[in-house]
Amino acid sequence: MGIIKLHDKYFKPFISSAEIDSAVRRLAQSVNADMPGEVPVFIAILNGAFMFAADFMKAYPEDCEISFVKLASYSGMASTGAVKQLVGLDESLEGRTVVVLEDIVDTGNTLVEIHRIFSGMKVKSLKIATLFYKPEAYKQQLNIDYIGLELPDKFIVGYGLDYDGLGRNLPEVYQLKEKDMINLVL
Ligand code: 5GP
Repeated sequence: MGIIKLHDKYFKPFISSAEIDSAVRRLAQSVNADMPGEVPVFIAILNGAFMFAADFMKAYPEDCEISFVKLASYSGMASTGAVKQLVGLDESLEGRTVVVLEDIVDTGNTLVEIHRIFSGMKVKSLKIATLFYKPEAYKQQLNIDYIGLELPDKFIVGYGLDYDGLGRNLPEVYQLKEKDMINLVL
């Protein structure tokens, strides 16, 4: 692991794949411990959560299901502005124990949208699990049920997370280098 360049930016190694792996396993164990006898449906939010969701599901020790959705904006009437919707959401979630899998919670705006969409559905219970969480950036009141790792408010890439399309394939997480450090590299 060394410094990498994606488009015009430099990133430094930040979280090893071993650390990610143990955080994912911890999350899977915690979720499982809270739902004895349940067969939960994991709802992975694309694109960022695809890698986390795959590893989380492999670490989940009992019966479970998974579904992948994408949060998309569509323009409503000019007065209402952009409205979010979940593309690919299956209506048969009625009565199910749902666990939303998020890659990262930053301001929490995305989470609030997801919560709002699910609150209109008759699920049995709704829990939120995020692999990464930036507490300094979080601006919402909503409780996050399961948190993998708390991170400083700095931009990261890797393990499913991208910078302008690149970096999702990295098995570990990298952090954006500060400007003065970038100059040192140049
Ligand atoms: P929020 O709505 O909580 O501000 O942001 C959530 C979404 O923003 C995440 O699902 C992710 O797509 C993106 N995001 C937030 N922080 C980062 C980051 O540090 N790196 C990357 N690549 N995406 C982020």
